[in-house]
Amino acid sequence: MRPITATLINLYHICHRELWLHAHEVRMEFFSDAVQDGKQLHETAYPQRADRNREIMLGGSKIDFYDPKTKVVHEIKRGNKAEQAHVAQVKYYLWLLEQHGAPGATGLLEYPRLRQTQKVELLPEDYAAIAAWEADIRCIVESEQCPPVINKPFCKQCSYYELCYVDE
Ligand code: SF4
Repeated sequence: MRPITATLINLYHICHRELWLHAHEVRMEFFSDAVQDGKQLHETAYPQRADRNREIMLGGSKIDFYDPKTKVVHEIKRGNKAEQAHVAQVKYYLWLLEQHGAPGATGLLEYPRLRQTQKVELLPEDYAAIAAWEADIRCIVESEQCPPVINKPFCKQCSYYELCYVDE
């Protein structure tokens, strides 16, 4: 299996089926208005950021905005409905930074459309949680069986909606 990435950590906290499909290269995001809107938000929300922040790759994970002076990871999201997944993703970035010799970073989850921000820190209990997430993700992805649909309201916003509910 390919390295576990922050994207997989995020999807693990949203939907195991979405995680499995994404990990098996079944990609539908080009047809998703929500994904395209999110990309546009990333490009336009904070145009001044490009000067001082860096995009960095750690293993297979890409951090879009990292300020090396303040050691802050900025993660921009459209809405906060999947907040738990967003927090897990940023904690994973902080853990990855530490693993790559840059300890002590903090994260800032930013919801420009809601005018909200949330600080994210890597806490002592997160190390065991991250190890458990990774083990679980390996199990799900290595299974030959795609997990079942979850019938949640947010499925309608998901890029796999047509695929998951094609028979309905
Ligand atoms: S549509 Fe729902 S069940 Fe299907 S992948 Fe997306 S979130 Fe999961």
